[in-house]
Amino acid sequence: MTFTVAIDGPAAAGKGTISRGVAAKFGFEHLDTGLLYRATGRRVLRGDDPVTAAGALQPEDLLGDDLRSGEVAQAASRVAAIPAVRAALVEFQRAFARRAGGAVLDGRDIGTVICPDADVKLYVTASDDVRAERRFQELRAAGADVTLQSVLADLAERDARDAGRDTAPTKQAEDAFLLDTSGMTIEAALAKAVQVVGAVYSSGG
Ligand code: C5P
Repeated sequence: MTFTVAIDGPAAAGKGTISRGVAAKFGFEHLDTGLLYRATGRRVLRGDDPVTAAGALQPEDLLGDDLRSGEVAQAASRVAAIPAVRAALVEFQRAFARRAGGAVLDGRDIGTVICPDADVKLYVTASDDVRAERRFQELRAAGADVTLQSVLADLAERDARDAGRDTAPTKQAEDAFLLDTSGMTIEAALAKAVQVVGAVYSSGG
């Protein structure tokens, strides 16, 4: 059995928590595709060529707390605008989506480019202020020395680049369910996502 759930949206909208929760609920595997771009960006910060780096990723590239840093996020967003970098990462993501037992992929272009035929598509978003506040709390909890203003500016810069690029910009697929988590707790947002996925899954895809 294959069953693919595509979850897209801007940074810090709650995609990660919702994707992990949906995967756990239905027994699917989860791929955070942002990690592929972050791992490529980190290699580039260390001096690698972006396209070579994307093509040479190894499982250990997806490890390390620094993958979550603001510096690596910006590097990821810059390499993600290079079409040849994206092309190098397509097949891995599509193969993951087709894995037996079901898959949840979250990113920016899953429902539009990577898996246009996904069984369920969600577009998870939230207002800029809510997303910045959530990311600020996360980074502070992890011990990062940041201000709310710097986090807001960082997200705005990354969102503008990700939504404005020519290749695979952040975009809601026409057949995606829009989930605005601004006024919701994460538990309520996850429950809604589970309900949307479950309605399709229980009807046999
Ligand atoms: O989701 P996350 O914030 O970890 O993604 C880091 C960066 O990777 C994004 O800002 C975006 O530029 C890029 N990305 C992408 N396509 C995806 C996933 C992430 O371009 N499917």
